[in-house]
This record gives sequence, structure tokens and C-alpha cells, in this order.
Amino acid sequence: MDYQALAAYLFPHITTTPEEIEARYPARTLKEGAKVTRMAPSPTGFMHLGNLYGALVDERLAHQSDGVFYLRIEDTDQKREVPGGVQTILEVFKRFGLPFDEGATLEGDNGQYGPYRQRQRAAIYQTFAKELVARGLAYPDFTTEEELAEMHKLQEERKENFGYYGAYAVGRNLTFEEIQAKIEAGQPYVIRFRSPGDPAKKVYHTDLVKGKMELPENDQDVVLLKSDGIPTYHFAHVVDDHLMGTTHVVRGEEWLATLPIHLQLFDTMGWKRPKYIHTAQLMKMDGGSKRKLSKRKDPELALDYYFEAGVPVPAVLEYLMILLNSNFEEWRLANPMADRNSFPFNTKKMSSSGALFDIDKLHDVSRNVISRMSADEVYDYIVTWAKDFDPELFAALEADPAYAKAILSIGRGGKKPRKDIGTWKDVRGYIGFFYDDFFTPDYSKMPDKDPAQIRAILEDYAAQYDDTEDASAWFERIKAMCPKYGYTANMKEYKQDPTAFAGNVADLSTILRVAVTGRENSPELEVVMKLLGKDRVIKRLIEASKLV
Ligand code: GLU
Repeated sequence: MDYQALAAYLFPHITTTPEEIEARYPARTLKEGAKVTRMAPSPTGFMHLGNLYGALVDERLAHQSDGVFYLRIEDTDQKREVPGGVQTILEVFKRFGLPFDEGATLEGDNGQYGPYRQRQRAAIYQTFAKELVARGLAYPDFTTEEELAEMHKLQEERKENFGYYGAYAVGRNLTFEEIQAKIEAGQPYVIRFRSPGDPAKKVYHTDLVKGKMELPENDQDVVLLKSDGIPTYHFAHVVDDHLMGTTHVVRGEEWLATLPIHLQLFDTMGWKRPKYIHTAQLMKMDGGSKRKLSKRKDPELALDYYFEAGVPVPAVLEYLMILLNSNFEEWRLANPMADRNSFPFNTKKMSSSGALFDIDKLHDVSRNVISRMSADEVYDYIVTWAKDFDPELFAALEADPAYAKAILSIGRGGKKPRKDIGTWKDVRGYIGFFYDDFFTPDYSKMPDKDPAQIRAILEDYAAQYDDTEDASAWFERIKAMCPKYGYTANMKEYKQDPTAFAGNVADLSTILRVAVTGRENSPELEVVMKLLGKDRVIKRLIEASKLV
């Protein structure tokens, strides 16, 4: 068979040569050891935590080594693509702040190694497929779906491996004339790779996370180009990661099974194999056993979920780092205020089995991350979130930003910051009492004391509250009230003989706290009172004295 002639016949429209294409993708000039990684999602409309988990590995590897991190849209599977899927990817990653150096963006392509959307690269793949045909390493195949199903049945009966290989690869034997006749008759066809592999032989691979492995060689004549001339994942992966200079491919472990195909293609093309990192699936505990996170059962798998749930992006990223590197938490304890990116990320610390996702742990991490933010930052986050998900809270905050920021400043900035907020959904419950509209006191939280006495204490304090006093004078005043009601300001004394007193200074504070904040626990009462302002404090004390 004259393969050159076949190539020219199959691809009359392809006039560029592989060399011309290679020339458009020169080797990158990066410093020694710089890694080039990419995020390569398919626009299925569903961006999940696993995507972000892998993207973080890509991002860290590239940026820790002064390399390049780029975004490629893998839109070759039109059956799985949903309308707006590309837009969704770009928007979600933008909101998660992934710092791509090049690739597809909402405004179009950015970078010298594009186009970064695979369907726009059809002619490139066809050029290389044409070359493989010309070398006798690829051929057209006209087998229909029905014939493939028949073949599958036969292989099942014969207890043989499934697929299109060896003697089953009928397209290998077609003559030029047969091919011509079928094409002239309008029969659709794919271009298949003529696999040189033998499954009795092994390929060796060292995965940066999974370690050393031996896999059987591929003997399947996989499809390179589908009948519409668009490549399969296998071919597009090899061509693109070669041309775009990817040094490290980070992808889900579901791709391990087809890795021998990819290695074989890299070798056949004479291209350097990239290094691979196959990441473990995200798992969760469910009724005592581990299972994969599922799109159907676990809303927290979708990246969109976190926007509504009010978990700030840095908290999600921090939590993923904890899942990714076993020593991250220890590092964080030693470096509480350090930028997450100064952590020395290392693939050796990645788990090769499933990472266990735990939403409660994520909320704890979020609580810590939020506690380290400034009041201004927290304010901006809350306002952005509340705008979409809690319009009443949004209106209250926007009406007086300085007041809101002063509230959010309480207990912030010190060595042991307060950790009241785990998600933005907690904000209303935490700061609500500062706003009359949200103030819903629960007087049942008053200490178990004689109501008449409680009323007397409230009226007494209302008559003397002085908002110009500092914290210690404020407390002295409360202590000074104690004897009048048979309370003691001396906790030690009280503990020695509780029956000797009607109550203690803590009870007295609680009475005031429940009246002013509506609950038993609150940030420092003296600070709270100052923020609320004298009038409002007195009004609440009197109101409570009437209702207790
Ligand atoms: N488009 C593939 C996917 O979404 C990407 C795999 C890869 O990163 O190579 O699974």
C-alpha cells in the first residue's frame, strides 16, 4: 500500500507539515527545573472539588518552580458538552482565583501556545494524524457501531479481551481501492492508530504519586480522530501536551488504565513523555464506610456549592492543601499567619489512596482562616455573599459599614482571635443582636434567680451605666453592685460556700448580657455595650426588666 498516497487522499485539505507546526511551538525558555502544568477540564457544566484539587497541584508545581500553569479547554466530546459549559469553567476558576499564566480566559485566549480550546485545533491534530497515516501507523476504519457491538459479543463468547485489536482490527487490511470505494459511497470512518503493542509485554511507569508500576502494553488500535475529524482524548492529550510543552500531567486516577496508550503514542511520535501524577479520588465516610464523593448524593462536590454555603475561597483552598499534603497542618500551626503559598508543597507528601473529605473539618478550617482575616476583609466577603444570599443582612451592613467593621473587629488581630464564624451563614447569628431588626432576645437564658431581683438589677444598672468608663472601671462598677443583692464579687469565696450568697458577679454579668445581647454568650460585654451605644443599652435593659 502506498501510505503517502493514502494520507494525501484522506487529508487533501491538510497542507501544513508537522515541522511547520512544531516551529509554531518552540521549546519554552524557562529556567532549569521549571515545571509546565495545565488544567484541562471538559465543559460538562459541572466543576467539582476534584478539578480544583488537581488544579492546586498543577498550580503549586508550576509556581514553586517559576514555571507555567495554563488552562486548556478539552471540548472534543460534544456529546457530553452542555451549553455554556466553557463559560462555567472560566467563571468558576476565576472566582476561585486560580492564577493561570496562559490559556483560555473569559476574554479569549492568552498566550503563545494556543489555541487553548481543542476544537479550534482540529487542523493541528489532523496534520499529525496525516503523518501517522503516511508512515503506515494509522488507517481509516469504517466499522459501524453495530459491527463493534457484534464483535464485543463474539469476544465475550470466546472469552477474549474486548476491543479493536489484532485480528479484530479489520480496518488494517483494507486496500487503497476498498477505502476509496467506501469513502466515495459516503461511509463515515474514523482514523485509528495501528498499535505495535503486545499485552504480554510490560510498560514501566513511575508515577510521582502512585510510584513505580508495570502495566501491560497497549494493543488496541485506538481511535485518533473521530468521524468528524475531531480527536479523542488520547490523541489530543499527546499532541497538545507535547506542543504546549507540558512537563507534568496531573490528572485523575481514572486515566491510569489508558496510560499505556498515551505512553505508546508519545514514543511513536518520537516525543518526550511528560511526568505524570495520577491523583486519588476524593472519598467520604458514609455510615461507617468510605465511598467516592458522588455528584448525585453530595452537593458539596460541586464547586458552586461553596459560594452559596458561604465558605470563603481561601478556606476551601486551605482545606484542599490539608488533603493534599500530610504535613500542611503541622506547618500551619507553626506559621499561623503565613501565606498559604509559602508552604513547601511536595508531591511526596501526597496520599496515593483516596483523600478523605470531611465537611465538618472544612468548616473548622474555615473558622480558622476567617479568624485570621482583617475586619475589612471579612466585611467585604460578607457583603459580597449577603448580596446574593441574605439581602436583609446585606442592607443592614451596607447602611453603616463603619459600624459593621467595628463589630467585626471585636476579638480580631490578637494571638488568639475569636472563631465565631465558620461560614458567612453564621454571621447573622453572631452579629445579629447588634441590629435592632435582628435582635430577638431569649430571656429564658437569664440565670435561675428571683425575677424581682433580676428586674431590680437591670433597672439599677440602667440608671448608672456610663459609656465613658474604660474596661476596668466598667467591671468595677458591676462588682460594686454585688453586695446590695447578696451577691459576691469574689468567685473563690463563692465557690467555698455557694449557699452563703444569692449569686456572684458572673451571674450579675449574665443578667446584663442576656438583656443587652439576648443571649448567654457574646463577645466582651463592655465592648459590645460601647458599640451599641448608651441609649440602646439602656433601652434594652429596661425592656428586659419589663419582660423577665
Ligand atoms: N479533559 C480531561 C478530564 O476532564 C482532563 C484529563 C487531563 O487532565 O488530562 O478528565
